Parts: sequence; C-alpha cells; structure tokens
Amino acid sequence: MPRPVPEHLAVAVAGGSIGGLCAGNALLRAGFDVHVFERSAHRLPSRGAGIVVQPELLDLIAAVDAEPLATTGCSIRRTVVAATGQVETTRMPQRFTSWEAIHASLRSGFPDDRHHSGCELTLEAQSADGVSIGVGGERIDADLLIAADGIRSRFRERLAPDTMTRYAGYVAWRGVVDEAALEPELVDHFDDTFSFCQTTGGGHALCYFIPGSGLATGRGGRRLNWVWYIHVDAGPVLDTLMTDRSGRRRDASVPQGEISDEARDFLFARTGTLSEPFARLVQATPDPFIQSIIDVVPPAMAFGRVGLIGDAAFVVRPHTAAAAAKAAADSMALAQALRGADDDFSRGLAVWERRQMAVGRQLVDYGVMLGERSQRR
Ligand SMILES: Cc1cc2nc3c(=O)[nH]c(=O)nc-3n(C[C@H](O)[C@H](O)[C@H](O)COP(=O)(O)OP(=O)(O)OC[C@H]3O[C@@H](n4cnc5c(N)ncnc54)[C@H](O)[C@@H]3O)c2cc1C
Repeated sequence: MPRPVPEHLAVAVAGGSIGGLCAGNALLRAGFDVHVFERSAHRLPSRGAGIVVQPELLDLIAAVDAEPLATTGCSIRRTVVAATGQVETTRMPQRFTSWEAIHASLRSGFPDDRHHSGCELTLEAQSADGVSIGVGGERIDADLLIAADGIRSRFRERLAPDTMTRYAGYVAWRGVVDEAALEPELVDHFDDTFSFCQTTGGGHALCYFIPGSGLATGRGGRRLNWVWYIHVDAGPVLDTLMTDRSGRRRDASVPQGEISDEARDFLFARTGTLSEPFARLVQATPDPFIQSIIDVVPPAMAFGRVGLIGDAAFVVRPHTAAAAAKAAADSMALAQALRGADDDFSRGLAVWERRQMAVGRQLVDYGVMLGERSQRR
C-alpha cells in the first residue's frame, strides 16, 4: 500500500534507482526534509550487470552510513589482441560491484517512511518559491524537485527539449554468467583479472567478476560479467538489434529476456572475432542483452526549482565507468551547495549547476575520446 505523503516537502526526488537514492541519502544527511518517489511499484529488477567501483560512490556510502558495498576485486589487467594472440599484462588492482549491490547499499541508508514505490511524479507548475508536483492524481508542493528519472528523462525532455543526444555508432552487448555454471578452466582463466580483448572486427570486449546471487563475493558464488562493443551504423541492422521480441523498437536498451532471435543470431555469428576464452564466455551466456551507446548533453541542469541528476542530466559512455560515480558526486555537491545557500534553494541550485555542468561535459568528452581510441576500426 502506498505510504502517506506530506502535502509539503522541502525536496522531492523523482526516481529511486542509483541517482535518486544517491540524492535522497546525501540530502537527508545534510538535514533536508527529502522524499524519494520511484515509478515502479515492485522491487526494481536487477539487470545484473557489473559496475566498476569508483571512490565517489564509496565516499557517499560511507558519509551516509549505508551498509558497506558488496565488491569483488582483481589485481591484474590483461589485454589480448585476438588477431595475433599477443597478450599484455599489468598489475592494476581494481574493485567491481553490481547495480544490485549499489542499490541494496543505498536503499539500506534511506528510511522506509521517506521512500515511495509505485509513485510516478509529474511537474504540474513551478514558481519562484517552489514546485507543484503530481503524484497518483494528487498534488504536493515542494521547495525543490530533483529529477533522477534516468536516460529517457521525461523532465529533461520537457525542460530541455534542445538537449544534444547522439548515437556513438556502436552498441554494447552485455551478459552475466553464474560462476558455478562456467567451465572451471574458464573461471581460472578470468580469475583475478580485468580482462580485455581487441577483436578482429575492430571492437573490443572486457570482463570481470561481480557479486553473485545474494551479493555473494567469494569464489564459487560470483558472476562473470562481460561487455562487448560492436560497431553498428544507424539504420536497418541497428533497428533489428534494438527491436525486442514483441516487435517494439527500443531507444536505449533491450533488457534480458527481450532480445529477438535475429539479434541473438547477430551476436553469436560474431564470436569468431573474439579470443577463444571470450568466445566461450559469450556462448555460455543464457540471456545476453544490448544497450546502444549514446552521448547526452543537456544545456543546463537547473531549471528554476527543478534539478536534473544522474542519467537524467548527462549520459556518459560506459568506458568512463563513471555513471554511478557521477550520480554520487552530483548528489554530494548538491547537498553541499544547498546547505551553503541558507535555504535559498534557487541560489543553491544555480551554484551547484555551474560546477556540475563542467564535470558532466568533461565526462562526456572523456567517454568520446576513450570510445574513439578503443573502437578504432
Ligand atoms: C532496474 C535498473 C537496473 C540497472 N542495472 C544496471 C546494471 O546492471 N549496470 C549498469 O551499468 N547500469 C544499470 N542501470 C543503469 C544505471 O542505474 C544508470 O546508468 C546510472 O547508475 C544512473 O542511474 P539513474 O538513477 O540516473 O538512472 P536509472 O538507473 O535509469 O533510474 C531512473 C529511475 O527513475 C524511475 N522513474 C522514471 N520516471 C519517473 C517518474 N516520473 N517518477 C518517479 N520515478 C521515475 C525509473 O523507474 C528508474 O528506476 C540500471 C537501471 C535500472 C533502472
């Protein structure tokens, strides 16, 4: 049953994924009366895929006293060139986690009575003093609305219709396999490494272990997570890949269980361009899924009393490993700017925007540079 919502709030956050929970936690710990509203009525389904751990996220989790993040680790980075078999190995310790683990940790830090599932927020009106928000046929007022509604943000669409959105010219196929379902030889091969493969097709793939079922991090209970970037020009082939089993053309991603047979055939027909262990890993994946790589640059992050955060603001390429860290950094910076503005929310939001726009732009540019380097044809 939906929880009662006060008629007036200081801050309402739209979206209860990583961005929304980062904002909710950071603002609550900074002393603000904040509530988080998530559109989905059910527990958010994990897409199960991996995320490289960055310090900004760990800092936020520590600052808000949330449960520690479940992580796995490696000490070696290994790159294999599929065409020649050449292997390069360097010592480079790295921690990894999953969306599911981050969500569990952030959710543990945020009180139930301030979290509302099954509540889609809409912006009804705003003035110099605050916003009027629609939720389930009711209206609530807030001093500030933080939109953390993700890559296809409706708030961004409405407030910043001139946002730059650009397809990068390649897609990321992704997959996760339970360690227990893999051949032991393959587990040994990939254990303790952040593995990369330059494919003969001009793309690249990578893999690493992440927490498994129940956030298990020990050997035997983990999952092996892979990502494979493949060039696909905009046009009919991309349309086929991004069309799900029910015939719906998706913009950003086709989730697990929704990939069409044609798209799956496209993927498996290309495993010969990978090194042999990577090819075996992809072939062992029961339910691969796909995401189109796009850059999103909004003209602003603050629109009066509304702020955009996480993927609702900038969308950066996965090579940066920065989406979750950016959401955390945006959130900590927002809490700091609002506190420094002594209840002048408009001023606080403007100060925050000036700093975070620069961060977002830099990350988008960095992702483009990394993509051009690693996806050279
Ligand atoms: C269920 C789920 C699983 C994911 N799994 C992975 C993964 O395994 N690996 C990975 O790299 N990335 C994953 N992502 C994406 C990742 O969370 C983001 O790229 C990044 O962390 C930034 O998150 P975000 O909160 O800004 O956006 P998102 O994670 O896209 O979250 C947006 C949230 O807003 C909610 N929402 C949308 N509109 C409204 C509204 N009007 N009112 C209230 N709520 C609204 C959505 O239901 C969603 O929960 C996942 C996202 C989701 C939603």
